[in-house]
Amino acid sequence: MSDRVSPTSASPSTDVDVLAVGAHPDDVELTCGGTLAAFAKRGLRTAILDLTRGEAGTRGDPATRAREAADAARILGAAFRVTLDLGDGGLRTDRASELEVIDVVRRCRPRLVIAPLPDDRHPDHVRAGRLVADAAFYAGLRTLATAHPAHRPQQVVYVPSHFVADPTFLVDVSDVFETKLEAIRAYKSQFHDAASAEPQTYISTPDFLEGVVAQARSFGRMGTVAYAEAFVSRRPPTLADPIAAFEGYEPGFERGSR
Ligand SMILES: [Zn+2]
Repeated sequence: MSDRVSPTSASPSTDVDVLAVGAHPDDVELTCGGTLAAFAKRGLRTAILDLTRGEAGTRGDPATRAREAADAARILGAAFRVTLDLGDGGLRTDRASELEVIDVVRRCRPRLVIAPLPDDRHPDHVRAGRLVADAAFYAGLRTLATAHPAHRPQQVVYVPSHFVADPTFLVDVSDVFETKLEAIRAYKSQFHDAASAEPQTYISTPDFLEGVVAQARSFGRMGTVAYAEAFVSRRPPTLADPIAAFEGYEPGFERGSR
């Protein structure tokens, strides 16, 4: 398993089922790390794309964060992780940046793309969500030439971060929740570490990680499982069996009871 593929290298077997994209290293772990771990457990191939190196962060440095990101990708069972350099704290969305993302999509050929919800407190997340959705569409244009042939994913689905969003669907991550937390904890420079001498930030307090757990519990409660991650999609998924999809939502319900 290679932890990192440089954006310019062409590897022979980079096809994946799912490509999860974050603006910053650790975004993917926080928002959909459990879903990626669940996919990997089912034998699906996943990849992670970070649009920036996280160089604007208060704690850690790009080299440290790259090592941590590689560890986290390994923990989540991702086939590989690609890191672009589109500018942390001012994410670039110009045509050149868009073409870089298009080429990663074409190289990985994902069926599903996960992107940050473009409605968020952090402007990089807003820009990233729009950039990825546009790039995923343009990647399917045969007349647009890049290093790899055209490919359009089935759908881009979004993961919320700071703002509350009504989920279009939930993914049960109860079985892999410890793996998600382990992947988050791989970012030793970013999250709570009692031994660290670096300045405390919003995400380095113990409260922040408790919030991550509480959010997954809250979504889990909505879906009657222990832990869940939430997704927003402009196009809703079509369910083969709506009855099975709501199995267990009202445990013990009997006809005529309230
Ligand atoms: Zn972020």
